[in-house]
Amino acid sequence: MRVYNCHFCGSPCYPGHGMLFVRNDAKEFRFCRSKCHKNFKMKRNPRKLKWTKAFRKAAGKEMVVDSTLSFSARRNVPVRYNRDLVETTLQGMSRIEEIRLKRERAFYKNRMRGNKERQREEDRKLVENNPELLRMRDVELARLAEKERAQDELSDLESIEEPDLLDLSEDEMEESDKKKVKQNKPISIKIRNKKMSKKHKQSDAMDLD
Ligand SMILES: [Zn+2]
Repeated sequence: MRVYNCHFCGSPCYPGHGMLFVRNDAKEFRFCRSKCHKNFKMKRNPRKLKWTKAFRKAAGKEMVVDSTLSFSARRNVPVRYNRDLVETTLQGMSRIEEIRLKRERAFYKNRMRGNKERQREEDRKLVENNPELLRMRDVELARLAEKERAQDELSDLESIEEPDLLDLSEDEMEESDKKKVKQNKPISIKIRNKKMSKKHKQSDAMDLD
């Protein structure tokens, strides 16, 4: 049995899966799942839907030109049975798969190159444009410090050391900060209230916000 490719999304259609539509001009359309069939019936263009292979190839996200991809292409030339040919083919199949995977990995690596730097640059810009994000982080750190201090006071009344949480790198801060923008305001108010009540207990570490 042959594993065909979905006419719409390009993924493999395994035997017993999906459906086959034969148009009245005898052209066959195979679909891997009802999603693809429905989209086809709606006359959508697979090149415009991000989840299809057609889109990914058009957008340069998948390899298009590669000799290993042409092996499964259908040809109308009948091949006579030849024992040696079958043997070499079987040997070649695994080797070709190996090469294909290697090339795919290289392609992926090449495509993803520089992503980290770009992301870092974006994060840096975000912090520069929104300095209040870092201030919120300070509030949070102050809250943590206060908690630790309270625990320390409970255990022993020795000198209180300030935790070096403030030395966290920028990247670590930013991601958590984006999410906490909304829930931070009430926290800061709470801290202020606590501060009022506990002011005599605290050291000089609380002048962060
Ligand atoms: Zn499909």
